[in-house]
Amino acid sequence: MSALVNPMSDPAVTQAKCVAFSALTLPRRLSESPALHIDFNRDPLIAPKQDSPHILVIGAGIVGMSAAWTLLDSGYKVTVLASQFDDRVSGQHLTWEYPPAVCGHTSDVEALEIPKRWSMVSYHVFKYMAATPLLSHEYSVVMRDAIFFFEKPVEDDVSQLRKMREIERSGVAGFLHDKHLTHSFGIDSSKYVDAYKLRAPMIDTDVALTKITKLEAELLTTYKANAIVNATGLGAGELADDKNVYPLRGAMIRVLNNSQHIPKLTTALAVSAHTEGQIETKFIFIVPRGDGIIYTGGFSEPDVTDTLAEDDAKIEQMGKDDEKFLPGLSTKPEDRDPEYPVAQGLRPARRGDVLCQRELTHPLPGGTPGYSRIVHCYGHAGAGWSLSFGSALEVKTLVNSALAGEVPEPMHRQAPSAVSREQVADFARNRANEDGRHISAAAT
Ligand SMILES: Cc1cc2nc3c(=O)[nH]c(=O)nc-3n(C[C@H](O)[C@H](O)[C@H](O)COP(=O)(O)OP(=O)(O)OC[C@H]3O[C@@H](n4cnc5c(N)ncnc54)[C@H](O)[C@@H]3O)c2cc1C
Repeated sequence: MSALVNPMSDPAVTQAKCVAFSALTLPRRLSESPALHIDFNRDPLIAPKQDSPHILVIGAGIVGMSAAWTLLDSGYKVTVLASQFDDRVSGQHLTWEYPPAVCGHTSDVEALEIPKRWSMVSYHVFKYMAATPLLSHEYSVVMRDAIFFFEKPVEDDVSQLRKMREIERSGVAGFLHDKHLTHSFGIDSSKYVDAYKLRAPMIDTDVALTKITKLEAELLTTYKANAIVNATGLGAGELADDKNVYPLRGAMIRVLNNSQHIPKLTTALAVSAHTEGQIETKFIFIVPRGDGIIYTGGFSEPDVTDTLAEDDAKIEQMGKDDEKFLPGLSTKPEDRDPEYPVAQGLRPARRGDVLCQRELTHPLPGGTPGYSRIVHCYGHAGAGWSLSFGSALEVKTLVNSALAGEVPEPMHRQAPSAVSREQVADFARNRANEDGRHISAAAT
């Protein structure tokens, strides 16, 4: 891992647009379980005090913003710095997924144990948002069926069976394992012989991230930092000098949901990539978007960063594969959204998978006493939204530990002190306050 970077002296950061948040209070005592607080009001859930620690979050994607949000509602002053505050993000209409994500690119299945718990924290936050009419509308989050198809019975594939059993026990809504689901939508049931479905949050990321950014940005002020969160996605390759970070190019065709030769689609359909590691993958991912658009993809290509032409052979082939999978679907140019036919983006991937841990450098450069107060959280690849609020809770735990001057530990040793199964279960009980504008959970 990198040498310690002082973001305030980094030219990329000093040139960055700076937005500060309101915030407040003291770090939680270490004896207390970490809690996730999410408040949908404009005031932080816990009122700030004058001597509250200031946390500098670098990065304004979903990972940085969800971390900033939970820190803010937990009583910190928070400043967000970013080279870009995106109004439009690449994924556009995303589906929550239990790890590993459909697009593949997992290099260590064991390392997913923590992200699995994060994904369930996020699941319950988004589910809560979807169930609250005002929030569902404001953040454009809905719950919909998502069906995952398989070319051999799940029972005959050890890793898929394990994943399915975990999902079944995880507390997701509407789980059903039924091979007869392959008969739906006219899908070739001689090729796709097994399937399961669940209710998954689907998020219009344009609306959600803009809303999240503006909500907090209204509370602007700049503070001096007591700890730093590095949530720079691909930028961490340079900022934290992490050679394991790499871009994972992806694209989705946007077709009109009302000009298809199939009934209007309201269910997400997916066939996962089979491979792991840093290689190109293809998969089926067809997601209906609320306003009459279907997103259809996809592929993952490591280490390329340029933008593809809308009629690039790779995009055309992706469309053909999806048409073959779902009879009646058309990805032809005349059936695409004329305003925005192809969405593209770079997933921030990392060999060794997502990293969420304190900077381990010790002793600090220049003889500075104590341990680093930087918390890294990046490399979410194709699952940034799925993991968001769970990794935010992990960040909060690590910020607490940095402020308390504890010895930093590598991520694989963090599990017992970070997001636990008990917390996930507790969060599933979804405590809402009387006016339904905040939710919180803590292990008891
Ligand atoms: C086609 C496609 C489909 C996808 N589908 C899904 C899906 O269905 N479900 C899902 O969960 N995820 C999906 N994803 C993945 C998801 O979009 C990403 O995981 C997520 O956006 C990553 O968020 P992030 O905050 O880590 O990074 P980013 O959104 O890249 O944010 C990084 C931030 O850091 C800032 N920054 C970088 N370097 C610096 C610096 N030096 N100084 C200051 N600021 C800096 C940037 O300006 C930016 O604000 C998809 C992605 C693609 C491309």
